[in-house]
Amino acid sequence: MRVYNFSAGPAVLPVEVLEQAREEMLDWQGTGMSVMEMSHRGKAFISIAETAEADLRELLNVPSNYKVLFLQGGAMGQFAGVAMNLSTKDSTVDYVNTGAWSKKAIGEAKQYAKVNVAADAGEPYASIPSFANWKRTADAAYLHYTPNETIGGVEFHFVPDTGNVPLVADMSSTILSRPIDVAKFGVIYAGAQKNIGPAGLTLVIVRDDLLGRARPETPSFMNYASMAKEGSMLNTPPTYAWYLAGLVFKWLKKNGGLKAMGERNKAKAELLYDTIDSSDFYRNPVAKDARSWMNVPFTLAKPDLDKTFTAEAKAAGLVTLEGHRSVGGMRASIYNAMPVEGVRALVEFMNEFARKHG
Ligand code: PMP
Repeated sequence: MRVYNFSAGPAVLPVEVLEQAREEMLDWQGTGMSVMEMSHRGKAFISIAETAEADLRELLNVPSNYKVLFLQGGAMGQFAGVAMNLSTKDSTVDYVNTGAWSKKAIGEAKQYAKVNVAADAGEPYASIPSFANWKRTADAAYLHYTPNETIGGVEFHFVPDTGNVPLVADMSSTILSRPIDVAKFGVIYAGAQKNIGPAGLTLVIVRDDLLGRARPETPSFMNYASMAKEGSMLNTPPTYAWYLAGLVFKWLKKNGGLKAMGERNKAKAELLYDTIDSSDFYRNPVAKDARSWMNVPFTLAKPDLDKTFTAEAKAAGLVTLEGHRSVGGMRASIYNAMPVEGVRALVEFMNEFARKHG
């Protein structure tokens, strides 16, 4: 039996995608082998890889002066990758701190360049610092921000305009959740395991003029220009994850693309926030204009009921609702593949639980 899985990542995948993968597991389109067993340099895998890239470009409307890289190393690999590819040790790099993942990105960047924290939301990291007050560096090598904080449930509902300073975004937990204007960004990167596919694949979308600036000591497999030149196949790419991501891209296209996803995700989030706000039993601490469409943290008025909540939810087929281990409480991650029925089932359960225990 499938459950409604509210995990923050690795996270729920569309059931149609899993079914197709099952269907093709032993024999991918008459090749007599699974995608896992294929050479990444063979005709079959090259066609899988190219189709996935073309579909992603179509979904995100990626301009032709951007490269799309299918890498390994996770989003955290890119915390270093961005700094190594775009800055020198004498550069100033601007960072915006909106919570746990920004902080980790800042910590990593400090090993490589001079970090200026242009804006800091401050404790309890439940809002976005007003753009007008950001203290940016005029000649920064780039400005990095985290459009969606997976743990705090804080999301930017605007794209900062950094002028000539390349904008770098860790979109791990928001990519593909709505349309974006890629042309506003210098680099977009994302770990796959939320809205793209299985863990092990990391997407990097990089504007051409930013290629070729990497420090000489940058490991080749992290060097954007080297990877772009080799079609992300300087070494063996995460082939099966790339294939599954491709199936997810087809599923997104079939389901109306990112505009439809955005509308659906907004409606799902509203349903959940309305339930939380209209009850004295649940609370979400995030400023209303900064609430995430993807990760919805909430607490119970009686925290001693946390374990009862998750146990009863599990019995009702609603799993992985525990908040991140660093913050406690609850968190419902409602990525693209979480159907609206799953969110409806969750809010019905929440209402019933509050009636019973409130
Ligand atoms: N950034 C964000 C916003 C994340 O949510 C995560 C993972 N939860 C990471 C970075 C780290 O990603 P990875 O585990 O792929 O390195």
